[in-house]
Parts: sequence; structure tokens; C-alpha cells
Amino acid sequence: MSNLGTRENPLRAAIVGSGPAGFYAAEALIESGPTLLVDMFERLASPFGLVRSGVAPDHPKLKQPILVYQQIAESPQFRFLGNVTVGRDVSVPELKDCYHVVVFACGAQTDRAMGIGGEYLPGSRAATEFVGWYNGHPDYRDLVFDLSHDTAVIIGQGNVAVDVCRILAKTADELRHTDIAAHALEALAESRIRDIHMIGRRGPAQAKFTHPELRELGELADCDPIVDPRDLELNAASCAELADRSNRAAIKSYEVLQAFAARPPPTHRRRCHLDFLKSPIELIGDGRLERLLLMRNCLVGQPSRQVAQATGEMEELACGVLFRSIGYRGVAIAGVPFDEARGVIPNRDGRVIDGENVVPGVYVTGWIKRGPTGIIGTNREDSVLTVNSILADLPHLDAGAKPGADRVMALLEGRGTRVVSYADWQKIDAAEIRRGQPAAKPREKFTGLKEMLDVLEC
Ligand code: NAP
Repeated sequence: MSNLGTRENPLRAAIVGSGPAGFYAAEALIESGPTLLVDMFERLASPFGLVRSGVAPDHPKLKQPILVYQQIAESPQFRFLGNVTVGRDVSVPELKDCYHVVVFACGAQTDRAMGIGGEYLPGSRAATEFVGWYNGHPDYRDLVFDLSHDTAVIIGQGNVAVDVCRILAKTADELRHTDIAAHALEALAESRIRDIHMIGRRGPAQAKFTHPELRELGELADCDPIVDPRDLELNAASCAELADRSNRAAIKSYEVLQAFAARPPPTHRRRCHLDFLKSPIELIGDGRLERLLLMRNCLVGQPSRQVAQATGEMEELACGVLFRSIGYRGVAIAGVPFDEARGVIPNRDGRVIDGENVVPGVYVTGWIKRGPTGIIGTNREDSVLTVNSILADLPHLDAGAKPGADRVMALLEGRGTRVVSYADWQKIDAAEIRRGQPAAKPREKFTGLKEMLDVLEC
């Protein structure tokens, strides 16, 4: 009988990634009963993943889960190892040697490509880069977005597209007292963008954004939402979709779009246009983005399974900046199976699989498990399911004693990695909050590792 998970032989678990999925996995493990120790690895010096660097700065309520993550982090069974890149500073085989279970919760770190001509012309960027930039993520802080043009385009109609649209549409005064990065506030204050087109390949009944986020576009200080009433005429299958009472969210979004279409003519300095049934075909420009070629679509297929079909009718839209916002994508980690087509780690109920075989002791949760869908809370259910698989496997796992963080810390020290502990992060956190006070911001984020490590030297 295995004694794994007892005081004599505590379960040692490594979690890779400190976003919502990682913290909810830590919470579920700590609350599950067996005696265990959880070590969370994070490549940045700061925890909380997309809650810190993805959630829009003007949505502070969505950052409240951090209060729960802080409590989890203060558990005596929890240890944070920040500024450690798994696969570079410590390898996956080394982690497997040091822990009974390794849980990958590293999210979807890059974006999906449109796969069309001119996609990478200067002026065209991934929405994920813009989001990282305005949120002060160290990987994106040095990017330059040329906002000197009249017209910006966003491809896609999910909530990330709405975030990007709102940040472009807001006045500096609307953003000034948020935790937006200082460099982004400065650049946005000088923005000359007047028209923002958020373009969906399908119709208003299929848009992925949610109605509270959509409604906010009608509540901005100096921007009018523009919807062409002709775009709200629905085919029979779309009417059937909206008649389905289980599709309440889409009905509510449609009602918001109707209210936008019924508004009086725009009066504000900026306009955000919600354009439907158009697909990007090519980005055109002489050395930089100048125009976007679009194809008009119609919808074909059964209700809830309608797809966009090209009509052959093309149009051009002059634009100086474009953000593709068509979804995030996971990145492979050396030593871990990866499904290239889906951009996820293949798994069965959170157990990582290599072909048909389960990889013993290796698990996955969150966006890198199921793809980039759902809200922050969706990761809690997902992580509970993965932890249930771990608990069910406990009697069959290799019960040999594992050295855990002590061995890993020795390895990292030998390699010159400055591990940022949770106590270190708390000092950095306090310094960010102090830095924000003169401008009445909740915090002024440090956007580079050196600045963060300097705080720890004081
Ligand atoms: P998303 O919700 O999946 O939306 C992706 C959009 O891109 C859809 O409109 C999709 O259209 C379109 N698209 C995909 N491939 C395309 C292509 N080749 N050409 C043109 N359009 C294409 O993804 P997301 O906006 O990145 O959001 C990711 C997740 O984070 C979502 O679950 C979202 O709700 C969540 N999130 C939530 C909040 C919030 O709660 N405030 C904020 C940000 C993000 P089709 O529908 O036709 O595929």
C-alpha cells in the first residue's frame, strides 16, 4: 500500500504557471486532504498570469480573484519560485525527478495567425501584443504602436477585441487612474485614431463578445458605437439561434446591438464600428499597412453551426493600424507532448498523454489543456477536474521520496538563476502600489526584471 500523501511521505507537486489555472490547481490540491507541498514555477518575477497582464486595466473588478490567490500563496504548503523558466532554467525531466506530480498550467502564450498576405506588414499586430503592452508585460513593453492614423481595425469579435477597442476608444482621462502602464497611457493620450472597426466574419447572432462588455462601448466619454441596421437583418437559421432560450447571452448582445443601431447620428470625436459578415483577405501597403481587403460573407449551415461563406463581393478599407484578435494559442514546452493543430497539451481528464499512453505523474490544466476559452472562473472547475485525476492516481504513482524544491533551488543557484520568492514578490507589489500613489493609480507596474530585482536590493 502506497504511503504517498502521508506525513512520512508528503506528495510533492510542481505547478508550472501562476495564472488562474495554476492557483486553482494549488487551491484544490491544498484542500484535498493528503499531506502535500506545492511549488509553483513562474517565468516572470510577478505572479497571476493573465489576471495581471491580460485583464484590461479599466476592469479592476475582474482582478479581484487575486485576493483569493494571495490567500493560497500564504498557505504554509505553498512555495512560489518566480523568474524561473521551465525548459530553460530547469528541465522537465529534472522537475519529474524532483516531484511526484508536475502540473502544466502555462496558458496560451501566443496568438493565432490569420494566414493571409501582408499579415506581418508594419502596422499590423496581434491583439495579444497590444494587451501585453498596455498592461506593462515585460515581453511587450518595448513595442511601438503607431497611433498617428485615423483608422484602426480589429479582426475578430471576442472579448479581447472589445478590450482592445475600448482602450483605443477611451480618453486619457478615462484611463488615467487605472493600472495601465505609464508608457501606454502616454502613447494613447497622443492617439489620433478616430474610427475603430471591429470586424466579424459571421453575423451579430454569432459574435463571441458578451453583452456587459459590448454595452460598455455605448458608455464611453468620447466615442459612439456604430451599427448598420441592415447588418441586424437575420437569416432563418440565425433567427432560430436567437429563439433558443438557452442562447440568452447572444439574445442580450443582439438587443445591445439593436440599441446601438437606433442611436442618433454620432457626435463624439471617436467612433467604433461593429462590422459583420466580412473576412480579411489581404493587408496591402507599400512598406507598411495602408489598406485592408475584405470579402463579404453570407452564412450557411444549420442553426448554431453556421459558417461564413464568401460571396465574391470585395471591398477595401483604408487603415493605418490593425490588430488580429482571433484567439490565443499555446506554446510547446521541450519534453512535453504537444498537439500542434490545437495548440494544447494532449490529455485525458487532465492526464497528459503521448499518443495513446498516459505520461505518469504529468498533468495539465487551464488554457493549455482545453484551449483559450471561458472566463477566469472556468479555470477553477477545470483545475478541480485535473486535481481529481491526480487524487484518483495517487495509489499508482511512483511513491519514492522526492527532494522537491530543495534540489531545484540548488540546481537553480548553481545556474545563477535569481529565484523570486513570494516574500520577494510582496515587496515588489508594495513598491508598485507606492509608485502609483502620486498619480492616484492602484499601482504603477514595474515592466522589467531589473527594476523588480532592484527593489529587492533596497
Ligand atoms: P474568442 O472569444 O474565441 O473570439 C475570437 C474571435 O475571432 C471570434 O469572433 C472568431 O470568429 C474570430 N476568428 C477566429 N478565427 C478567425 C479568422 N480566421 N478570421 C476572422 N475571424 C476569426 O477569443 P478572445 O477574444 O481571444 O477571448 C479568449 C477568451 O478570453 C474568451 O473566452 C473570452 O470570453 C475571454 N475573455 C474574457 C474577457 C472578459 O470577461 N471581460 C476579456 C477578455 C477575454 P468565429 O466566431 O467566427 O470563430
